[in-house]
Amino acid sequence: MKEIVKKLPEPVMQPIRYMMGCLPPRFRYGRVFRQSYDFLDNSQWWNKERLQEYQMNRLEQLLHHAYRNVPYYRRVFQEMALRPDSIKDFGDMNKLPFLTKTIIQNNIHDLVAENYPRSRLESVSTGGSTGDPLGFYHERGISAAREKAFIFALWSRVGFKAGDKCVELRGNILQSKKGGTFWMYNPAEKILRLSSYQMTDETLPKYIEKIRQFRPDFFHVYPSSIMILGKFMKERSIRPFHSVKALLCASENIYSWQRELLEDVFQCRVFSFYGHSERAVLAGECEKSISYHISPEYGFTEIVDERGIPVEKDGETGEIVATGFNNQAMPFIRYKTGDIAVYSSKTCTCGRNYPLIERIRGRIQDFLLSRKNHLIPLSTIQYEALGDSNFVRQFQFYQEKAGEVVVNIVKAQDYTKEEERRISRALQKGVSGDIEFHFEYKDLIPRTSGGKRRLLIQKLPSPE
Ligand SMILES: [Zn+2]
Repeated sequence: MKEIVKKLPEPVMQPIRYMMGCLPPRFRYGRVFRQSYDFLDNSQWWNKERLQEYQMNRLEQLLHHAYRNVPYYRRVFQEMALRPDSIKDFGDMNKLPFLTKTIIQNNIHDLVAENYPRSRLESVSTGGSTGDPLGFYHERGISAAREKAFIFALWSRVGFKAGDKCVELRGNILQSKKGGTFWMYNPAEKILRLSSYQMTDETLPKYIEKIRQFRPDFFHVYPSSIMILGKFMKERSIRPFHSVKALLCASENIYSWQRELLEDVFQCRVFSFYGHSERAVLAGECEKSISYHISPEYGFTEIVDERGIPVEKDGETGEIVATGFNNQAMPFIRYKTGDIAVYSSKTCTCGRNYPLIERIRGRIQDFLLSRKNHLIPLSTIQYEALGDSNFVRQFQFYQEKAGEVVVNIVKAQDYTKEEERRISRALQKGVSGDIEFHFEYKDLIPRTSGGKRRLLIQKLPSPE
């Protein structure tokens, strides 16, 4: 049915979307969504033992399935002289090798389960912000419904209900219509999708007027996109949208200076969550804290150091390694995400017994390389000097040589040479002379093919 509807011409589609928008959301999104959402509504309050028992069952089932039906994993088990029963607890998982992006690229066909015919596969490709794009498969009709249920369950922590009105500002490019509008409304989903590309001093007042008319309950955004609107509103002291309960931020790191500015301008909670297109790990903040709660119903997540050993001390950083439960068509087992997280052993006061991550420190590509070949995390650089500044509209770091970094800046009206000196001094503090910063001035900072804006374009090879 959905496939037929998708092929209908646009003038027929829009009334159908309006009709769908009138259906109760629980029915609109189907049985898989309903079941998953109801399950999560309950399981989020389970105690630690019950959650771990659930995870272990799902893990066993996944490993047996992979051994029986997925040629790549069958080969891996045989080469290591292992069977699925060799994995008796979470600690045994390190007997299995990591799955890397390169392995996926080289074994794409062998990673698909033999008991899944082509018709049940949905092809997915990630944008690939710096490296090559990665292609893989999800389970058609199932994966997306489950994902929606998990995301909605996360958002429900700040009051979101299926059917709430949402403004989306996530790096979409929408063509300008004749009247100079840069948005599209989807009445079935109650989403007003704004284009991130035409946001200028001339068009932003129109965006703001449109948002006021729409009276959204939530914003679903990339931090870099909403920051453009946020800075504009701050500069001109424009009043917030009172109907908005929270800004739901995804896909890019959110930095503390961004959160402060956004909460000040929009007068509501900034709620950040972490996931990726591979759908092997999901984590989000809660109503009580800004630590990321890893969803144990979604998968089994490890945080490992450079040697592949689990990180166990508070405040230590490691790479997120993910085993997802929701994709049987192409299982991701011990997948190296390339994302760096800060470990926490704490339990949140909200009552959920989910493992916590203190912060996501960004991707491996979010590090600068000093003259002495030391990795310096971007988060230690004092680029608040840029982010806080009313003189800078957008900025981005660019590195292609160890010890040298280009700072690309889109100036706001009042930017002066003195501002450049002030920023330069602030940046130097974080690197104690190991990196030289050069300033370049641009009209625009381009986005990646996926529409995201990176704080750093790192052209040096990853130390992996
Ligand atoms: Zn919590």
